[in-house]
Amino acid sequence: MSRINVAIDGPAGAGKSTIARAVAKKLGILYLDTGAMYRALALKALRKGLVPGSREDVIPILADTEVTVRNNAGTQITYLDGEDVSQLIRTQEVSKGASDIAVIPEVRIKLAELQRNVARENDVVMDGRDICTYVMPHTKNKFYVTASVEERARRRLSELNEKGEYLEYTLEKMRGEIASRDHTDSTREFAPLTKAPDAIVIDTTCMSIETAIETLVNNIRL
Ligand code: C5P
Repeated sequence: MSRINVAIDGPAGAGKSTIARAVAKKLGILYLDTGAMYRALALKALRKGLVPGSREDVIPILADTEVTVRNNAGTQITYLDGEDVSQLIRTQEVSKGASDIAVIPEVRIKLAELQRNVARENDVVMDGRDICTYVMPHTKNKFYVTASVEERARRRLSELNEKGEYLEYTLEKMRGEIASRDHTDSTREFAPLTKAPDAIVIDTTCMSIETAIETLVNNIRL
């Protein structure tokens, strides 16, 4: 029997992770948030005072850095060298660091290998930037979830504000940070963010999350 491997790519704040988590729950299979793995590595670099975008800084720490994930009732717990960093990786500083560190090919090769192992051993819904194009290009279930940059900035800011964080941020500042991350993600040389030719596009700008989840589930081929 072949595995169910669902790949979802798209820019920051398009609703990918909410959709992916819900789809995995509906199908009763694992959800893997690959962005959390880049974030964990970026956190390590930042803690050490390294520059996340510098190969010279980052490559020496890769071999003895362990990023692992565990699924706890549908929620991913992300560990950095054994420490639960699931909350610590959700800052804007780490978001930027993750985007910078994700440019380094050696980082991507290491994390993609871990992600492919998960897909080999589990039925999984995986979201990220290069899942359809690089991590599992052979899956028949490919989706590209997107939304306008204004809408994504609005969602990201209200999500953070609801937790009482980044209350001082203007929408304009958040928009700028998201646009800059989009640029870094889609212009890097190795495995950039791009829509796979055979991915189904789901634009959530004017779509409810429920409809997006339903659309995705209805398009899954077993
Ligand atoms: O999805 P999330 O916003 O948590 O991802 C953080 C950053 O990690 C992204 O901006 C991107 O640069 C990087 N990333 C990536 N490839 C993935 C997942 C995330 O390059 N598969």
